[in-house]
Amino acid sequence: MAFMRFLRPLRVSPELKRRRALVPPFPCAGPAMHPFMDSSHLALQAAVRDYALESVAPVARELDETARFPWDNVRAMGERGWLGVPVPEEFGGMGLDYLSYVVVVEELAKHDASHAITVAAHTTLGIAPIVAFGSEEQRRRFVPFLASGQVLGGFGLTEPEAGSDSSGTRTRAVAENGGYRIDGGKIFITHAGVGEIFVVAASTDPSKGARGITNFVVCKPTTAMEEARRTGVGHRPELPYTPGVTAGKKEDKLGWRASDTRELRFDGAWVREDQRLGEEGQGFANFMRTLDAGRIGIAALSLGIAQGALACAVGYAARRRQFGRPVWDFQEVQFGLAGLAAEIEAARHLTYHAAWLKERGAAFAKEAAMAKLVASELATKTARAAVQFMGGAGYTADYPAERMLRDAKACEIGEGTSEIQKMVIGRHLAEEFKAVPEEFGTAARERKSVPRELGTAAREREPALREFGTAAEA
Ligand SMILES: Cc1cc2nc3c(=O)[nH]c(=O)nc-3n(C[C@H](O)[C@H](O)[C@H](O)COP(=O)(O)OP(=O)(O)OC[C@H]3O[C@@H](n4cnc5c(N)ncnc54)[C@H](O)[C@@H]3O)c2cc1C
Repeated sequence: MAFMRFLRPLRVSPELKRRRALVPPFPCAGPAMHPFMDSSHLALQAAVRDYALESVAPVARELDETARFPWDNVRAMGERGWLGVPVPEEFGGMGLDYLSYVVVVEELAKHDASHAITVAAHTTLGIAPIVAFGSEEQRRRFVPFLASGQVLGGFGLTEPEAGSDSSGTRTRAVAENGGYRIDGGKIFITHAGVGEIFVVAASTDPSKGARGITNFVVCKPTTAMEEARRTGVGHRPELPYTPGVTAGKKEDKLGWRASDTRELRFDGAWVREDQRLGEEGQGFANFMRTLDAGRIGIAALSLGIAQGALACAVGYAARRRQFGRPVWDFQEVQFGLAGLAAEIEAARHLTYHAAWLKERGAAFAKEAAMAKLVASELATKTARAAVQFMGGAGYTADYPAERMLRDAKACEIGEGTSEIQKMVIGRHLAEEFKAVPEEFGTAARERKSVPRELGTAAREREPALREFGTAAEA
């Protein structure tokens, strides 16, 4: 069975044994038990941990320095099924639950965020919209190439004039010759160069604003043809490449440097009607749903960075001696790291809970935004503390803490900035509090207060309702 692939035993080299000995068992080992995890999650976690120690950690620094895309590891991860973890087996995926996907991203990010974002962007942004909103024919046509890791996928929403406010999409799709001609461009697109299959948003009716946005699947050949030939993955000539779809120059970034981020341009790019994803006008709503789920992946990625940085700092502080004792013995250092460890556990619960809700078909958008907000800001905070508690060593590239600090920052921006997460959470709060008076009938609504007889819980919520003012009333 496909999902058994990750259980394939890894050869344990002396180098891996040495690295395992260096990494403190807590927290990088991950939870030995967790209410949301079962034995299959733990087995997958162990498999990814061993792989990351063997193949990701040793190359992370060099890939960061050279901003080189990790093609060999992409092929290896694809072979293990990790580029299609939550994708149904009938479309070439592992058919595992969302928490399994979270575990893979988190485990990779403990050692290298660029590997983790490669898996995350490909899975939840590139593949998920086709599985969720595509026709049966589109799923069969595109998803197996992606889920098996034969080619990489991406998601094109952001534009120069449409960032946080992505409803301002200017890219146009005009019905023409039984299909659509697309003109415009997207910026900061993960895998725009290395990838081949993209889901993108374009306006089919600008007069309708967000309700005039439609999604399409577009294909273009990879820019890394030599690597594709060398590794045997990354290019499938049978895909319906669209002339006029091109990738721009690779962005020179602060972090996630081994991840491929570029402009994706459409110049008279004509696609067949059967490459429209979903109905006309549904594109914006569908992409917002895609981002809700994607945020759980970014939360997992952040959680991984935070744990990697903490492990690095704890390991260093235990060995580094000043004033005749390990710096770990200084309360400032130990309490600082202990507090971060507690916050990491809190972020883990938020993240796993959001994945658990999604898996059960429950509403999860608010929880996903909360998990992403908390975990991404915590990743930056933890990496910054790690650099600080490691002193000059933390500031050098000899240790991964400085890279983790640079990588963490991207988690506060991609898939909606922290400010946008607060907007999402705020909208939910306004909705929730508005629901209180309605629950309790017209009298409560008219008096804008909750009658005493309805009990303390409802009364307690009343001041908060007032605070929300017009937003809650609207
Ligand atoms: C490494 C990387 C990879 C990315 N990959 C992709 C990808 O694959 N696909 C894709 O489509 N996009 C991608 N993005 C784009 C990313 O989603 C956007 O950068 C992000 O949504 C912010 O948009 P912006 O950069 O235009 O910032 P802006 O929207 O210009 O925001 C600037 C500042 O204003 C704040 N702000 C904006 N509106 C509000 C508001 N209403 N209230 C309070 N503050 C506000 C923002 O929080 C931010 O601090 C990527 C970005 C990066 C850095």
